[in-house]
Amino acid sequence: MPQQSYLIKKALLSDGWAENVRLSVNDDGFISGLSKNTTAEQGDQPLGMVIPGLVNCHSHSFQRAMAGLTEYQVSATDTFWSWRKTMYRFANLVSPEDLQDIASYLYLEMIKQGYTSVAEFHYLHHQSNGTAYSSVSQLSQSIINAANIAGINLTLLPVLYMHSGFGDLALLDEQKRFGNSVESYLALHDEATRYCSDQSQHSVGTALHSLRAVPARPMSEVISHLKDMGNHSPIHIHIAEQTQEVEQSIKALGNRPVEWLLDNHDVDKQWCLIHATHMTTEETALVAKSGATVGICPTTEANLGDGLFPLREYLDHGGHIAIGSDGNTCTNPMEELRWLEYGQRLLSRTRNISSDDKQRHTGSNLYRQCLKGGARSIGTKTGTLKLGYRADLLVLDEHSADLSGIANEFVIDTLLFGTSQSLIKSVMINGSWKITDFHHANELRIKEKFISATHALRS
Ligand SMILES: [Zn+2]
Repeated sequence: MPQQSYLIKKALLSDGWAENVRLSVNDDGFISGLSKNTTAEQGDQPLGMVIPGLVNCHSHSFQRAMAGLTEYQVSATDTFWSWRKTMYRFANLVSPEDLQDIASYLYLEMIKQGYTSVAEFHYLHHQSNGTAYSSVSQLSQSIINAANIAGINLTLLPVLYMHSGFGDLALLDEQKRFGNSVESYLALHDEATRYCSDQSQHSVGTALHSLRAVPARPMSEVISHLKDMGNHSPIHIHIAEQTQEVEQSIKALGNRPVEWLLDNHDVDKQWCLIHATHMTTEETALVAKSGATVGICPTTEANLGDGLFPLREYLDHGGHIAIGSDGNTCTNPMEELRWLEYGQRLLSRTRNISSDDKQRHTGSNLYRQCLKGGARSIGTKTGTLKLGYRADLLVLDEHSADLSGIANEFVIDTLLFGTSQSLIKSVMINGSWKITDFHHANELRIKEKFISATHALRS
């Protein structure tokens, strides 16, 4: 791909909105030139209103195919744990081909709505009876292929999953697909890394399912092994999603999960704590201080009845946040951010919780925080239009009814809180156009394959 250059009428840069921005992209998909208040040069293509694309820090792709299918009462006390039974039944039906077709469609939806990178917390590894496929990374390959088909940047996080609960409880039959020993996990990690080693837009990190599924010693073994190999890629973990999980952790480990993790590991910017929902005031301050990113999945956490993250308190301590689509009942980052703020408003019965003295615009502040935290959660140079960063950007529909005549400082607020319509017209990922005029080149084919893969699963 030869170098391309653009003259952008209005772009959101790291220090705010700028006009007449000239942006060049090199043949590796990185920003190689950036100047503002300038004029077009020969060959420049004109663009209207541009903002950076977001990172989705947490996805379980296969769950996209069961969206809407768990919204009925099984018992008068339905919880996360009863939802999980349905999810397991579904997880055990998915073939490698199904997974590729489901994830391709999901990633296409994500791109169209503003995500340019996704971290896939991937725990389907074997056949449903637990027997390994001929290649240990078979289902990881399905995910990598899907990312290529849709064109999203992928951080694959193969998940270490060993037990069904605290106290080294054996995996349930329906969890056999997820299970690995430390040895087989590291083999999977190696093979998945090799599979995408020639694709610089993808990377492989590490995921530890949770403290209930991974005992202390194997957790340390995996972390030390990767560290010894000079591997400093991101480490993600589900940490405190459910109050029951917190109670069990106190009983089994003598500590709350976040407390235990901070006491037993060097938690720093390499870490992303998914669903740090249930934290004490002290834990909230310590996580913020650690430099880790917290991955919040507002619509999933609402869907599953998890609880609300102590956002204001955490931001006041300088904490980093990223958003994730998790169960993929919602693939729109603007809606995730809206609900992140709305949950806090409902709880506190006040408004504009995510803004502060420095940035009074709630939408702008949330968007910026998640651009920064999202990039941090995957350890990648994205999320800002800056020299040397990936050219991952969204072109907004500046002539839409919602954005026409809107002053710069209200653009992101409008995107998040002003409309349910998509205002994203085109999307560039790694310097290459994936969505042009609301359309993806392989959209129909990807959709057909999703429909045919999910037809049998859904019935
Ligand atoms: Zn999750």
